[in-house]
Amino acid sequence: LAACSGGGAGTSTSTTSATGGETSAAATEGGRVGVAMPTQTSERWIADGNAVKQQLEDAGFTVDLQYANDDIPTQGQQIDQMITQGANVLIVAAIDGTALATQLETAASQGIKVIAYDRLIRDSKNVDFYVSFDNFKVGVAQGSSLLNGLGILDADGKDTGEKGPFNVELFAGSPDDNNATFFWEGAMSVLQPYIDSGVLVVPSTQTEFDQAAILRWQQETAQKRMEDLLTANYQGGTKLDGVLSPYDGLSRGIITALQNNGYSGTISDGFPVVTGQDAEIASVKLIQDGVQFSTIFKDTRTLAEQAVTAAKDLLAGNDPEANNTTDYDNGVKVVPSYLLDVVTVTADNITEALVDTGYWTQDQIDAGV
Ligand code: BGC
Repeated sequence: LAACSGGGAGTSTSTTSATGGETSAAATEGGRVGVAMPTQTSERWIADGNAVKQQLEDAGFTVDLQYANDDIPTQGQQIDQMITQGANVLIVAAIDGTALATQLETAASQGIKVIAYDRLIRDSKNVDFYVSFDNFKVGVAQGSSLLNGLGILDADGKDTGEKGPFNVELFAGSPDDNNATFFWEGAMSVLQPYIDSGVLVVPSTQTEFDQAAILRWQQETAQKRMEDLLTANYQGGTKLDGVLSPYDGLSRGIITALQNNGYSGTISDGFPVVTGQDAEIASVKLIQDGVQFSTIFKDTRTLAEQAVTAAKDLLAGNDPEANNTTDYDNGVKVVPSYLLDVVTVTADNITEALVDTGYWTQDQIDAGV
């Protein structure tokens, strides 16, 4: 990402950590922050990691940034190590939101503060704060954008009176990611009435989260499920009109499956309307080319800013400012949260939303990498 190139030299000196006498090789006057990210296979987490690291270093913190290859034990070990090395704060985007209770117990016993980053950490009281986007609204935006692409809603979200019927299929994210159910419920809150009235038809009848979910958000798994759905339900002239996809990686798997099964050209030629999320570069190019309909842009730079602000507050012994204290119950407690807004991107506002804001350059979009 142009604006998230990482780097930034931290001012590291050897000193005693604030949490109890352990000598840390690199704590600074700002303290030491462990940043645990899930995977580098998706661009957004690379952008998140770089932005968090850069901003923390600019603020005088020493940063230990780790990626866990979407492997749950690896992430657990990385966090254990951050604790051993004297972290004062942990910023964690969990792979499995329920798998970190042991690590967080240790962290709490050493006075280490924990910020859940983008994905809520569940089943632990030792989560001090949550920074994310409004995940239900992301789902609403995805569902609305599918309806918009099909012509059922206009660009302002007003019903056009279009009655279809349209054949659609539904995809959801990873069942162990707390966000996935929020996205799904947000999307279904706008799609269900149209399914009930028959404007939308789901030929596979797979309308439950468990049927639609794609473990670990894997592109190949989504491609395989789409191929299976096409084989089982779209023979003999039945045409697919749209697909709810909650993440650009899944969208690209779905689009590949469609292209392998006789769908070609662009949406204006009748290619199915496919949604997305994260404004990944390859998908932004597909949107520019008229193949993918939309993505939901989450500005990882502003999320990083919130995480850094929260980390500073927690280290100063203050409660970070929350704008939601009701919606994110992690099974043990409601975690105070700061939620950011998102922007739906279609071919119509790529420039305004992504280029003018410096997130991608036009050259990057044209190249798609
Ligand atoms: C994030 C999404 C992302 C997905 C897959 C979710 O937790 O909120 O932005 O698309 O994980 O990485």
